[in-house]
Amino acid sequence: MDIQVLLSTAGILAVDPGLIGTATAVVGGTGLLIGLFLGFAAKKFEVEVDEKELKVRELLPGANCGGCGYAGCDACAKAIAEGNAKIDVCPVANQEAYNAIAEVMGTTGEVKDKEVAFVKCAGTCDKVKLNYIYYGIKDCKKASIVPGNADKKCNYGCMGFGSCVKVCLFDAMHIVDGIAVVDKDKCTACGMCRKECPNNLIDIIPYESGTQVSCNSRNKGKDVKEACSIGCIGCKLCEKQCEFDAIHVTDNLALIDYSKCTNCGKCAAACPVKVIRIK
Ligand code: SF4
Ligand code: SF4
Repeated sequence: MDIQVLLSTAGILAVDPGLIGTATAVVGGTGLLIGLFLGFAAKKFEVEVDEKELKVRELLPGANCGGCGYAGCDACAKAIAEGNAKIDVCPVANQEAYNAIAEVMGTTGEVKDKEVAFVKCAGTCDKVKLNYIYYGIKDCKKASIVPGNADKKCNYGCMGFGSCVKVCLFDAMHIVDGIAVVDKDKCTACGMCRKECPNNLIDIIPYESGTQVSCNSRNKGKDVKEACSIGCIGCKLCEKQCEFDAIHVTDNLALIDYSKCTNCGKCAAACPVKVIRIK
């Protein structure tokens, strides 16, 4: 019979067994071809994964903060495994992780000293004067395009709108009394806050550094005094007191060379505005 499938108004009544066999063969053959093609494609386009890279990736904290300078922990692990980044490039990992990464890489630990973020401003609400009342968007980057960097009279200092706070993944940065303050115990020195600050107020410094200049103003002493009662006036008294050549005034601002500083405290004692702090 020509008609292999018998139909009635009620639906399929019967199917020719020959037709079932043919259909099965076609479907099976097609499946086999697809399987072969997929197998071939998988082999052809296979991306070889470096075992070392996988192991290093497991040892990284997974914060994906970018503090290492790479686009996340995967890229960082790749760079370490390929020998293009130091084993302690991740600022968030701890000593234990560095040692384990060193072991994977077959090297001895080459570990940097612990670091921490430091905000170079002490201009709290009671110390800095205002130019006007700012009602704009509470965002440091946006406020930085307003003439004078928003309302504070010092245009070098912390605006206090907390752009740094928003990017910190470790709850280590808070706005206290109008300025950003770092919680040293929580900070991993990832540097996200540093990238975010439009006034370049945040440095990553040695964790153990006990002497810090909490100002970033390059204004002349007279202008600094007019704006803030705790700004560096560039008088150089600190410089004259330092026996270790560790503090110098450049562009009206005292800067510490942490590699030379012994934390003797003489500069802080000499500073008339008390902007140098010993911690
Ligand atoms: S440190 Fe910089 S980013 Fe943070 S609140 Fe101050 S101005 Fe804004
Ligand atoms: S305070 Fe800054 S450097 Fe420290 S963890 Fe937060 S974003 Fe990173």
